[in-house]
Amino acid sequence: MKKVTCFVSLLVVVAVCLLHQPLLAQSPARLSRTERAILRAVDAQQTEALQFLERAVNINSGTYHLPGVRAVGQLFDSAFRAIGLQTRWADMPAAMRRAGHLFAEQRGTRGKRMLLIGHLDTVFEPDSTAPQVGKFVRRDSLAYGQGTSDMKGGNVVMLYALKALHQAGVLSQARLIVALHGDEEAFGRPVEVSRRDIWEAANRSDLALAFEPATQFNEITVARRGSSSWQVRVQGKQGHSSAIFGNQLGAGAAYELARILHEFYRQLPEANLTFNAAKVASGGEIAPAPGGDWRVEGKNNVVADTAVAQGDLRFLSEEQKERARANMRQIVAQNLPGTSATITFDDGYPAMPPKQANLDLLTQFSQTSQALGYGPVTPYDPGKRGAGDIAFVAKLPGIDGLGVMGGGAHSPREYANLRTFADQVKRAAVFIYRLSR
Ligand SMILES: [Zn+2]
Repeated sequence: MKKVTCFVSLLVVVAVCLLHQPLLAQSPARLSRTERAILRAVDAQQTEALQFLERAVNINSGTYHLPGVRAVGQLFDSAFRAIGLQTRWADMPAAMRRAGHLFAEQRGTRGKRMLLIGHLDTVFEPDSTAPQVGKFVRRDSLAYGQGTSDMKGGNVVMLYALKALHQAGVLSQARLIVALHGDEEAFGRPVEVSRRDIWEAANRSDLALAFEPATQFNEITVARRGSSSWQVRVQGKQGHSSAIFGNQLGAGAAYELARILHEFYRQLPEANLTFNAAKVASGGEIAPAPGGDWRVEGKNNVVADTAVAQGDLRFLSEEQKERARANMRQIVAQNLPGTSATITFDDGYPAMPPKQANLDLLTQFSQTSQALGYGPVTPYDPGKRGAGDIAFVAKLPGIDGLGVMGGGAHSPREYANLRTFADQVKRAAVFIYRLSR
């Protein structure tokens, strides 16, 4: 009797084990010996990584504060050289007023050729008056300060992922180029010069991984909207206000501009397209004023003969951008009596459309995430995402959002979530290692 009971309980144990196999499969037991060594290296370097982040955050590197951007570049330059990467500073022409970019390269012999993207600058210039936008301040599991999440934190995730591979003895085989731009927040013009080096790096790469902040731990960016600016200028006839709408004066510039904006609002809306009208003015003379402002002259009893509006346009593909622009031109051309109008566009960031190769890369990333026991990863809604440097190399398969979790970007409340910091480094490290095999 006792023997039978034992046999039955053994069966139960075996059955329970079999039932639990999918769970076991998701545990780190699925990792190779090398991958487990990589994870141990990340753990061992955690304190150092956070100290490095603190040092980087405490150097102001507003895009126009060139010595600060270069100083942050120096910090990363030494760290990459210490693990065997060849580094190079790409200077920009003085007239561009940009600090330049840091490139670091590992010329291994195996696996995919990776382009790892980050940026050294932040939106906070040294004279920024916003309180608290200064030094690194840690409160429990959050770290506040300039660029903690956007994106010195992301650069540190990238660096310490590579340091863990180095520690595990597998970095030298990898083929990768690190591109840390000094002007992501306001890229230098002409773009053919400021993005020449990353285009050259992209020509020697199979895929791109960008380390901008993540909003959710298990969401990754596979598409980013592009941006462009636009300006509408209306010309009307000046005259006595009492004669407006008559044969002589017509509708005046102000009403024509109002018509145009209202038709944008009525006709243009579609998914993933936005068109913000940011600044609007009408009057007799509209002159530029310091700081990009306008000085407007006008009187209540005078019909305005000039009106200007400007704003931006955000889109998910070049095709969507061109279609929106064609519609805007058509609206602008249907003038009210006595007026004429023109619209001009200025290209900003290109779009990164959600192509299949990006989704395939996401699937590989998700598999790594599951092997580490972190669960599957899904695409982030591109409608919620701004423009980014990875879009300049959108011809490559690419994903973004591999950096730290955080929030409050571009505001005095910017922070990085330190609770998930080590996990982000581990996931990036094992993913890069798998791609390098
Ligand atoms: Zn950023």
